[in-house]
Amino acid sequence: MMPARTVPPAAADTLPALKRRGVMLVLASPPGGGKTTITREIAKRDPETVISVSATTRQQRPGEVEGQHYYFVSKEKFELMIKSGDMLEHALVYNSQFYGTPRKPVEKALSEGRDVLFDIDWQGNRTLSEMARDDVVSVFLLPPTWDELAHRLHNRARDSEEEIIRRLGKARDEIAHYREFQYIIVNNDLEESIAKVQAILEAERQKRNRLVGIQAFVDTLKPGN
Ligand code: 5GP
Repeated sequence: MMPARTVPPAAADTLPALKRRGVMLVLASPPGGGKTTITREIAKRDPETVISVSATTRQQRPGEVEGQHYYFVSKEKFELMIKSGDMLEHALVYNSQFYGTPRKPVEKALSEGRDVLFDIDWQGNRTLSEMARDDVVSVFLLPPTWDELAHRLHNRARDSEEEIIRRLGKARDEIAHYREFQYIIVNNDLEESIAKVQAILEAERQKRNRLVGIQAFVDTLKPGN
């Protein structure tokens, strides 16, 4: 029998880079379900990810920054963006305001091997999944209980009672679509949920069909290299 031999791992910067296409990671939840917090935390911790900034016709809220939380645009400008093919997907939310995903930044990030995080609703997930089936990975966050969700919405001081009722209605509607998502996480503990989303992302990055440089890499695996 050959004696066991251990080879120390090569320094990462001496290895050929294994090119990959980015993941489109959709994180959806009912309002108050945690998708925005988790999306931002992952983007902050993981330099290989970027958040897709949506365009919307709704009013800018206090504290929201143009180009960071949303691009706030007029209805006319939004319609023009749809017509000229600049929107990857768009939807009418709460039957009154348009929300949509600008196409160019997403395509650029994916081709550069960066993952794009989407904080969108079930309608956005449906359209993106139809358009980019091989790129999209969808995760749905459920609240641990209905009361917990209602409590979180009531605690958001910024919203009026009328707005809270509207959001609870949207929560029911959103939850009804859970089957359209590939992964489900019950968001009871924020850190645990973040770790689960990161684990999903890490696994999806290793999928063979995303490794655009795999053949070139395998070709280097021969004696003398
Ligand atoms: P809010 O007005 O609270 O920021 O967002 C309202 C809803 O619109 C949320 O469920 C949010 O996820 C969704 N949303 C935000 N951006 C987009 C988008 O680009 N496309 C779609 N389809 N929904 C979005």
